[in-house]
Amino acid sequence: MRHCVALLVLGLALLPPPAWAVWREKTEAIMGTRIYVEVWADDAAKGDAAIEAVMADMQRIDDLMSHYKPESQLSQINAHAYERPVKVDPELFNLLKLSIHFSEITDGAFDITYASVGHLYNFPEHIHPTEAQIKAALPGVNYKNLLFDPANDTVRFEHPGMRIDVGGIGKGYAVDHGIGILQKLGIKHAVVTAGGDTRIIGDHMGRPWVVGIRNPDDKNKVVTRIPLVDTAMSTSGDYERYFDENGVRYHHIIDPRTGHSASKVRSATILGPTATETDGMSKTAFVLGPEKALEIINRMPQYDAVFVCPDGRVLYSNGLAPPDKASAGAKGTTGSTGAKSPNSPVATGASRATQP
Ligand code: ADP
Ligand code: MG
Repeated sequence: MRHCVALLVLGLALLPPPAWAVWREKTEAIMGTRIYVEVWADDAAKGDAAIEAVMADMQRIDDLMSHYKPESQLSQINAHAYERPVKVDPELFNLLKLSIHFSEITDGAFDITYASVGHLYNFPEHIHPTEAQIKAALPGVNYKNLLFDPANDTVRFEHPGMRIDVGGIGKGYAVDHGIGILQKLGIKHAVVTAGGDTRIIGDHMGRPWVVGIRNPDDKNKVVTRIPLVDTAMSTSGDYERYFDENGVRYHHIIDPRTGHSASKVRSATILGPTATETDGMSKTAFVLGPEKALEIINRMPQYDAVFVCPDGRVLYSNGLAPPDKASAGAKGTTGSTGAKSPNSPVATGASRATQP
């Protein structure tokens, strides 16, 4: 028996040292925004490699779809698609088709051709178009004029002066793609955030992740916190890219019908199964405003929403119980989308958001 124990000890000594599962995280600036990835991995090296794979994929997607990069396929479309069909990778082709699908189901509130007028705004330089410029550019805004040839993977503009911009869905898409990479690597607990778009898989040490929705006027305050497991969440706010002039806020979410910045809400947050969907839906909800958007979202069980109104009211879809008053207006450490492990006890076992 003593020998058995000795052999066992010897055997254990010959085994490789035990691996320790760890949380690893990293923040980078890609796609003109903050990318945050946090994973629970078997060991630090595996976790770091998984995070790097996601970051590299974000860079790849940005190179393909950025309208700021003249060499991107998206910029090639904007430069040539009125003269001739432009061939694009199936990945971009499919995302453009999905964008049009979002336009169809939102009656044009989400419309990537908004860029036909949107490109006349320059928020860092405080430039907005005149009414005459908007009037001249608006006929270019119409998703029906983006034509697809699936046999050749080409797209074409049917109207002069058209432009597209996937800034309203591309980050959500990149987040989902990043989550797919992590899942293929066997990661079961993670968060990936790109700007206003976050997706969470699994929980955080047996508890939900807690994500804060920020106060539109103070990035250090949150209006509410939502515990989440296996959910995506996107926030669109009028405080991300903006400037104020003569009491008017000019910001980056544009109503495709008017060419002006949408003004019915200060922020619109959507919860749903994938970040591609929640990203597209957050612009839609912002443009439509809470009454109309809640009417639609309350009919779709896969989505929930939180609105911060211009008068400070916070409105929730039926699937979200109102938070207790203690957390409203509390000082938070999270940004609009910075997922954090919960510091205070919250409901566990949630498959979707539950009452904090
Ligand atoms: P973030 O880029 O931080 O994720 P949003 O998800 O709110 O922020 O996306 C804002 C972007 O959506 C804008 O910068 C613009 O590229 C795009 N966009 C603005 N208005 C519309 C619209 N009506 N339809 C589609 N995309 C839009
Ligand atoms: Mg977004």
